[in-house]
Amino acid sequence: TICLDVRDLVKDYPVDGASDHRAVGGVSLTIAEGEMYTLLGPSGCGKSTTLRCVAGLEQPDSGRIELAGVPVVDQGVHVPTERRDIGMVFQSYAIWPHMSVFENVAFPLRVDGRRRTKKEVRRRVEEVLGTVRLADVASRSATQLSGGQQQRLALARALIREPRLLLLDEPLSNLDARLRDQMRVELRDLQRRLNVTALFVTHDQAEALSMSSRIAVMDQGRVVQEGTPREIYQRP
Ligand code: ADP
Ligand code: ADP
Repeated sequence: TICLDVRDLVKDYPVDGASDHRAVGGVSLTIAEGEMYTLLGPSGCGKSTTLRCVAGLEQPDSGRIELAGVPVVDQGVHVPTERRDIGMVFQSYAIWPHMSVFENVAFPLRVDGRRRTKKEVRRRVEEVLGTVRLADVASRSATQLSGGQQQRLALARALIREPRLLLLDEPLSNLDARLRDQMRVELRDLQRRLNVTALFVTHDQAEALSMSSRIAVMDQGRVVQEGTPREIYQRP
């Protein structure tokens, strides 16, 4: 089953006194359910802009985006971020420092307009905290966590509502090298275990090759290669 389908995505940014800058120049992607799909390429090649269009944080100039067969971007259609069935983790993971670990993770459940009992909230939060191995620090302030723990907290918050698609924009690049290696393995294991579909953005080739089911290599706003890590590695 197809989870995400992106067709002919184009995004221009206005530039003072010049013609617009084309950040994304006709990107198409098809991601099956359960994949860890990576956009790989140098800084400025359009990875984040593509991801932000999928997230609904940018409105593309043209193209079509479907999530599980439902258009979220099409002519005259723009489904807002909060009504797309997605979870997001970014490089600056923006946890809320004044809240406990528990409350950071519970927050998306408190604001989505669905009624839940306290018990339901607590169960679900504890379940997700267990999944990312933060159960025993639930009542700590988020600022007391280590870098790796903060990263796992951001992941827990992205997963709490069981999104259909997880968007990961350079989620490991703020971590030191050793921790990054460890988190690569953890993130990939978790993604497999939960069978969540993920769209992952990185400029790090080793990271992409070790973590992905498939890779789209981007350059100057376009996809220039696509395939499994093995296929990509064999045609450098
Ligand atoms: P990547 O994620 O691969 O580093 P981006 O998608 O962030 O690339 O950027 C693609 C291009 O669009 C770059 O040339 C970048 O400078 C430009 N760009 C990104 N965001 C903006 C913005 N908000 N305003 C203007 N130009 C932007
Ligand atoms: P009450 O005791 O009023 O029935 P709860 O026990 O459900 O309410 O939770 C009260 C508050 O305690 C929650 O809003 C949450 O902030 C915090 N909390 C609940 N469970 C945990 C937990 N396992 N770890 C840390 N904080 C928790």
